[in-house]
Amino acid sequence: MSTPVVGVLAMQGDVREHVRVLRELGAAATRVRRPPELAGVDALVIPGGESTTIDKLLRAFELQEPLKQRIKTGLPVFGSCAGMILLADRIVDGTPDQQTLGGIDMTVRRNAFGRQVQSFEADLDCTALGDGQPYHAVFIRAPWVEDVGPGVDVLATVAAGPAAGRIVAVRSGPLLATSFHPELTGDPRLHRLFLDVVKES
Ligand code: GLN
Repeated sequence: MSTPVVGVLAMQGDVREHVRVLRELGAAATRVRRPPELAGVDALVIPGGESTTIDKLLRAFELQEPLKQRIKTGLPVFGSCAGMILLADRIVDGTPDQQTLGGIDMTVRRNAFGRQVQSFEADLDCTALGDGQPYHAVFIRAPWVEDVGPGVDVLATVAAGPAAGRIVAVRSGPLLATSFHPELTGDPRLHRLFLDVVKES
C-alpha cells in the first residue's frame, strides 16, 4: 500500500484539522459520512468532539454496525478524545443511552479531569515515540483511561501535576487512542505513528 486512504469520520468535531495533518504527512485523507465511503478507506480517524453526539449520528447514518464490523476485522483506527471514548469497550460517566463502538479492552472515564476544567496543556512521557522527547498535549474536556486489559499497550501518561501517572494514550493492535488532540498542536508524531500502523496492517 503506497498511499493509504485514511478516512476521517465526519459526523461532528474537529474533522478539518485531522484531514490537514494527514495530507501534510502524505496520506490521502477523505471524509466519511456514509457506509459506501467507509467501505473505500484503509484506515479511519475518529476526531474529538462530543462522543454522545457522534454516537447518535453514527446510529442515525447507519454507520455504527458497518464500522463495528470493520473494527472487528482489523481496520486501523485512531481516536482522539471523543474518538477514544468511542473505541472503549467500557465507559464511566457516559449518558444512560450512550453506546460505544468498542474495540479496545479498556475503561475510559468521560470528562475525567473535572467538568470545570475545560481545557489545559501538559507535557507527556510518550515512550512509544522512542525519541525521548516529551509530547506537548492539549486536553479539552478530556477523558482518561482507568484500566486496560492485557493486550493493550500504554503509550503515554501525564508526567506531572494532579493527574500525574494517568493513562492518556494507548495502542491495541491497529487501534490507537489519545485523550488529547494531536491535530491541534502542530506536532505530527502521533499521526505519523498511526500511518506506520496503517502501513504495517
Ligand atoms: N467530553 C467530550 C465527550 O464526552 C469529549 C471532548 C473532546 O472530544 N474534546 O465526548
